[in-house]
Amino acid sequence: MKLSDELTTHFRIDTAHVKALKKLGIKTVTDLLYHLPARYEDISDVQSVGGLEKNQDAVVYGQLSGLKTRKAWKSRKPIAEGYVEDGSAKMKIMWFNQPYIAKMYTDGMYVKLAGKVAGSEGKLYLSNPEVEPLDSLPIDRHDSIFKDTEQLDETLYPVYRETKGITSKWIYHTVLKCFEKDILKTLIDPIPAAILKRYNLPELKTALVWIHSPKKAEHAASARKRFAFEEVFYIQVQKAQERAAVSAAQTYSIQSTAAQLKEFTSRFPFSLTKAQSEAIQSITKDFVGNHAMSRLLEGDVGSGKTAVAATTAYTVATSRPPEGLSKSIEYGNLQVAYMAPTEILAKQHFESFIEYFQHLPISIGLITGSGCMKFPSKSDPKKPTKISKAQLTKWIKNGEIPIVIGTHSLIYKSVEFKHLAFVIIDEQHRFGTNQRKQLAKKDARLPHLLSMTATPIPRTLALTIYGDLDITLLDEMPAGRKPVITKVVGPSQSKEMYDHVESELSAGRQAYVICPRIEEPDPDAQTTLTMKSVIAEVKRLKKDVFQNWTIAALHGKMTPAEKEKIMHDFNAHKIDILVATSVVEVGVNVPNATNIIIEGAERFGLAQLHQLRGRVIRGTHQPYCFAVTESKSDKTRDRLKALATAKNGFELAEHDLQFRGGGELYGGKQSGLSDLGMEAIKNLKLVEAARNEARHLVAEHPDLAKDFPLIAEHVSRIGEVLHME
Ligand code: ADP
Ligand code: MG
Repeated sequence: MKLSDELTTHFRIDTAHVKALKKLGIKTVTDLLYHLPARYEDISDVQSVGGLEKNQDAVVYGQLSGLKTRKAWKSRKPIAEGYVEDGSAKMKIMWFNQPYIAKMYTDGMYVKLAGKVAGSEGKLYLSNPEVEPLDSLPIDRHDSIFKDTEQLDETLYPVYRETKGITSKWIYHTVLKCFEKDILKTLIDPIPAAILKRYNLPELKTALVWIHSPKKAEHAASARKRFAFEEVFYIQVQKAQERAAVSAAQTYSIQSTAAQLKEFTSRFPFSLTKAQSEAIQSITKDFVGNHAMSRLLEGDVGSGKTAVAATTAYTVATSRPPEGLSKSIEYGNLQVAYMAPTEILAKQHFESFIEYFQHLPISIGLITGSGCMKFPSKSDPKKPTKISKAQLTKWIKNGEIPIVIGTHSLIYKSVEFKHLAFVIIDEQHRFGTNQRKQLAKKDARLPHLLSMTATPIPRTLALTIYGDLDITLLDEMPAGRKPVITKVVGPSQSKEMYDHVESELSAGRQAYVICPRIEEPDPDAQTTLTMKSVIAEVKRLKKDVFQNWTIAALHGKMTPAEKEKIMHDFNAHKIDILVATSVVEVGVNVPNATNIIIEGAERFGLAQLHQLRGRVIRGTHQPYCFAVTESKSDKTRDRLKALATAKNGFELAEHDLQFRGGGELYGGKQSGLSDLGMEAIKNLKLVEAARNEARHLVAEHPDLAKDFPLIAEHVSRIGEVLHME
């Protein structure tokens, strides 16, 4: 047996099952061995039915049969009854006063039962047991490959991700058969032994045995740690390689002086926060060097990322290309491309930039799917003007326009820059860092990259998925902001909430109502459902709650022009209440909107809720957020209450990670991590270790494919997954 062999060469598997296996991503022996258990079930507390005694608290696993309901002989009270059978014996079960039980379960079902043994000797029965249906019975403890050698001190059996036709049990047994065929002898560990030793991780062979067939919980944990490390390590190697490639490329060196920066920022109607000043310093320091910057700026909504973008863009747009690169004397400063995820945001940035730059002889272009603009207009130097795309792209190409703001349209082939030196990407999670490469001309110098995001993610996750970037936090809000008053609203408190919002509207304020996005596997189904709930809510609010106010919907199915109109009207206060989905319009800026109602709050992560409420902290009025939940669970309420106490989004992201786990919040597709990798994200030490080791390895072995072919192969495989998005 070889690792690369298809399973069908060694096991008799019919075509239906081959298909089912394919669904799980299993084709070869390697695939099977790397299909790791999702969790373990501890069956050390399990008793065999045959060994039960009167008055014992019993936990048994078995198959149900003979389920029926009857009336008790004397009292006429209903009784549900049936039998449970395991390999050892069959025993009667009785549920008193729960006649529906017999209808809830069916004969032949596998179950875990927990109840008391009652009755008399020879006529024992299990009384009122709790029932937990199972997909299959636990693997018998005697199945373990350790059966001949050691006594098990705990009885863990692995539970795998299953699919129709392929049970967890089948996977387990097939793995064991592979072990028996001495597959382990052929394994070569891709991770250097020295690294494993440093972190006390088991080598591959041991880890595989321990993870699939642990005799102790510690062994399983240790093996999981190893595979988690391995996964994060490969990602870090890939990121380190990307970093190295960026470092090797030629870039533009941009000089700036403190006095120059001061002159620009002193015109702002506010003074910079310390965090903003530090971010500007880090960036301008990076600009001076010979390596292209790759930096992620993470800051809560409202922390002032645009000012950082504008100030650093200013140093670029006022710099000349290096001698010899530009023959034109008239125009041709270095250029900046600023990409936003939506037209609305691109337009807002354009307007902000006009304010920041209007005193300077610097032109600014706006390019979106629905049209182009340029500032200043020839006729009125205080205003922008509409121009054709052809005209704008011409001016971008000849270098006359140093700052270009836009949406995805910016990366279309027809937009060509003369000296693109700086790329700013707003809301990084919606784009990929790949876009820098797409924006730069093939043989041109590599522009510096600043990615900006308001999505608070835990530090460990940032280090992993943004491992190729340096990270700067804007962890401070501008002074004078009133913190949002946040209330968790249960089903009985909606009147109070609506009364409050009503009084705010009467005082001249505006409000958002956010309806939850409904997770559906089919993206089309998702938008339809989402749209419906927004529209239904608009109807309901108009009819039952806010009869005297203007209410409008904003959602992803609307055309950019329709959205634009709604946003414009909301901004102009022609609309009082905007009902929207959570995903559509990030970062919308209407200072007069100081109330936000978030429906179905329990569906969101805390960090996400925090981001949503960030929309109402833009003005000088006291903002309010209502997190509405139908959930009666104390746990859910308590979790939501953390919103009221946390200092910033990052704190909430860590909270989310510990309480809900990474997988649920930062799902596989978005991050490229498996469930196990997500588990690893809870462990800062592990992530840092993987990152350090990966950076060392890449620095010392530029030709990784030659020195560590196995690692290179694994890395190329994640490359494929991550770039598929
Ligand atoms: P975000 O980080 O969400 O992109 P913005 O850059 O849009 O935040 O800034 C939000 C608002 O805060 C803007 O109106 C901006 O002018 C203002 N602002 C930015 N920095 C400061 C500051 N240091 N002090 C006061 N207001 C600021
Ligand atoms: Mg912003």
